[in-house]
Amino acid sequence: MIKNRFDDSFASKIEDDLLSLRVYTSRLLGEEEDLVLHGGGNTSVKIGDYLYVKGSGWDLASIEKEGFAAVKLETLKEMAKRDTLKDSQMVKLQREAMRDKNSPNPSIEAILHAIIPYKFVDHTHADSIVTISNTPNGKKILKEIFKEKALIIDYVMPGFLLAKEVYNKSKDLNWDSIDMIILLNHGIFTFDNDAKRSYEKMIKAVNMAEEFLQKNASLKIDEISFNEIPKEDKDLLEKEISKLRGTKIRAIPLNTKFSKYFANLKETEEIVKNGVLTPEHVIRIKPFPLILDKNIKEEIDKFTKNYKAYFKKFATNEIMLDLAPRWGVYKNKDVLIFPKDEKEEKILKDIVTHTIKAMLRAQKLGGWKSLSQRDLFSMEYWELEQAKLKK
Ligand SMILES: [Zn+2]
Repeated sequence: MIKNRFDDSFASKIEDDLLSLRVYTSRLLGEEEDLVLHGGGNTSVKIGDYLYVKGSGWDLASIEKEGFAAVKLETLKEMAKRDTLKDSQMVKLQREAMRDKNSPNPSIEAILHAIIPYKFVDHTHADSIVTISNTPNGKKILKEIFKEKALIIDYVMPGFLLAKEVYNKSKDLNWDSIDMIILLNHGIFTFDNDAKRSYEKMIKAVNMAEEFLQKNASLKIDEISFNEIPKEDKDLLEKEISKLRGTKIRAIPLNTKFSKYFANLKETEEIVKNGVLTPEHVIRIKPFPLILDKNIKEEIDKFTKNYKAYFKKFATNEIMLDLAPRWGVYKNKDVLIFPKDEKEEKILKDIVTHTIKAMLRAQKLGGWKSLSQRDLFSMEYWELEQAKLKK
């Protein structure tokens, strides 16, 4: 369960400064690993004619005032009315509508924040919500938990398409009748004219989902002792995957009771084919892991073949990313990560740890089922990520 850490006496000192309040509750959200990880999620506040929305490259846990980009609200709301808009064009128009051109690029969810008619908007990828959502009956369960208090939106690619979808679905909506928007396979938005209330709606909703999981998908795993991964296997993995990555990587077992339990499950190979925890994670950990069992070289070959087939199936004119797996499941042994440096080690460790816990809990709710390969591809090969490569 996530604690409500809102401190009234602290907040009362900054209550006249909406952007300071925005920084304060953004950090409260960002500091909770079960809500967002490494740059995930975003928040905003509407002040006068501007939307102050989290800039890309900033992390909610450590955000400062300058981490928010101020974008003309009217321009964003107008953009939601368009029938189509490429994300690259969206970013360009948003930049032109910024008050200070030195601010970071606004979050790709800026339009969505703009059309939600409340001062404060909070968005996270809460584990409890996405875990339930990433199961065959997820939508139904979430409806039962939140009843008419949630507007539930089927998965749509983040960016303009998602903003457009929410715009269409909320045209005749009485906003005061709902507390949240749930984006299936992605996350949750809460909102209010009061910073504290918006934050509290988030904590409450996430804890309601968590309570459901503790009742219906509890994980009681005994400490299990497993075969260590031999040093020569780690050395071979490092040698081969470094070649694929074009830089030196390390092979690091997670060595937790969850990771060992996960590696020992019969169904693991099937589970991990069915998508990531929340869409942006595909950029960090690729659509699927390396599966290891008996012959490391052959199994790495199999991974690269599968990755090429996935790319070929969906690519139109994209540039293929490297073929190096970011994590692996070594059957009957452990889960491993393959980071290139310490920064990536922390990111992979956190994302994979949260992902396997969610997968294990989802199994208790009928199975893990997140994004399709097509949706994963659209995210991993999103035009703005590709644009960086083509430069
Ligand atoms: Zn999101």
